[in-house]
Amino acid sequence: MSKNLDKYLYKQMDKQAGLDHSNHRTKIVATVGPACDTYEKLLELVKAGVNVFRLNFSHGTHEDKAKIIEHIRNINKAEPYNISILADLQGPKLRVGEITNNSLEVKAGDILTFTNTKCIGTLEKIYVSYPNLAGDVKPGNIIMIDDGKIEVKVVNITKESDVQVEVTLGGILSSKKGINLPDTKISLPALTEKDLEDLEFIIEQQCDWVALSFVRSVKDIVILRSKLQEKKSKTKIIAKIEKPEALVNIRDIIVESDGIMIARGDLGVELPVEKVPLIQRELIRKCIHRAKPVIVATQMMESMIDRVKPNRSEITDVANAVLEGADAVMLSGETATGQHPALVVETMCKIIRQVEQTEYRYNREEDLKPQPHSPSFLSDAVCYNACKMAKDVEANALIGMTQSGYTAFMLSSYRPKSPLFIFTKEKTLVNQLSLSWGVKAIYYDEENSLDDIISDQINILRERGFLQSNDTVVNTGSTPIHLHLPTNVLKITKVE
Ligand code: PEP
Repeated sequence: MSKNLDKYLYKQMDKQAGLDHSNHRTKIVATVGPACDTYEKLLELVKAGVNVFRLNFSHGTHEDKAKIIEHIRNINKAEPYNISILADLQGPKLRVGEITNNSLEVKAGDILTFTNTKCIGTLEKIYVSYPNLAGDVKPGNIIMIDDGKIEVKVVNITKESDVQVEVTLGGILSSKKGINLPDTKISLPALTEKDLEDLEFIIEQQCDWVALSFVRSVKDIVILRSKLQEKKSKTKIIAKIEKPEALVNIRDIIVESDGIMIARGDLGVELPVEKVPLIQRELIRKCIHRAKPVIVATQMMESMIDRVKPNRSEITDVANAVLEGADAVMLSGETATGQHPALVVETMCKIIRQVEQTEYRYNREEDLKPQPHSPSFLSDAVCYNACKMAKDVEANALIGMTQSGYTAFMLSSYRPKSPLFIFTKEKTLVNQLSLSWGVKAIYYDEENSLDDIISDQINILRERGFLQSNDTVVNTGSTPIHLHLPTNVLKITKVE
């Protein structure tokens, strides 16, 4: 056993906080914005249950983001948390330009002209931030504006390369509203110039996760991965699924990414909105099968932006995402610009805990038998049986060790009822795993015999209040220790 475990223990005052914070297995991602961007407010959200902060690179400056990142890192240093940072790249998002008086009423039947020459938008001409719009669209294509609140149909491409459209659903158009082209193949690159600048900042800041918006094919992920590898970055990739093209290539995208986000906002504009619930269910199932974290995003608690109680339908939406097995549920405007950010997180936490009190979603290993053709078949078999054993003996802790993260993602994918602890010497992973269902990750870098390591792990959890005498623990590990092989050992221990 290690002589000095002190460096792995938190201060006395932290014991209870550590316990409380691990009470919900489905993780909470909260978007940071003006409503919560100070140290105190961020800490308040963490105490309410946030595991991951999302920084939306569609808004704000690098200077602002650097301050927020510093606050989150300081929280992790001073408090018993491993809060993860998810940097969300804007991607090839199209927008209209400035609109005269920031408000222009467009009516069904109006003919408008979209141009790629900058101008203040009027009924005559409206600027669109997409130089090749005229080259990509065809007459008959639908263009949605402001999340589909306004809809137009392409009628003509002029010889000046302007696009004339007829309004089919009218409304009030204001500046910088987003545009979706559900039936047009957009020729913009996966990473725009802005994304490349943002990515450089994200790599410098060593953010834990980077999300790529409007992923269309696996190539988009490969490009992002190579940019990260060029800089030897350990940042992991989330593919945001919000385009119909991504659904066609979803298997490869899931395999190539480290996780996905079901970005229901844009997805519900790009596709008939009634298709979103079943797509959500299917994407969650596919991600669990591949042991990749999956986030359900957008409008989960929308009414709490300015109200103190959620709608019944929002409560059911969060509960359903938990029942479907999502790793995490996400808040956007609710925490970024809403009036009650901490209350939203507390309310979301209560819904999650209520659902997690039922047996329904736990111990899913029967659905996920290890596959003999998989290159990781043997270590998958150990993880599978560890979860089965933990269930059979009602273990008080299931403990895994990992350097690549693989064992952690694998054990988590079985959604074990026993509390799941992951020990790793990879500091980056400790925070990254905050996104993964049920995982509580702990930094540990001793290289003893496996028996000593397991004894250390149990002592650390005991000191930190997670275990007590007579508890049963199931461990996975690998020997010989110095070879760092994939998981190949399963052990069961009674705590002395
Ligand atoms: C979404 O469209 O649901 C989403 C999360 O993307 P963003 O908030 O970046 O528009």
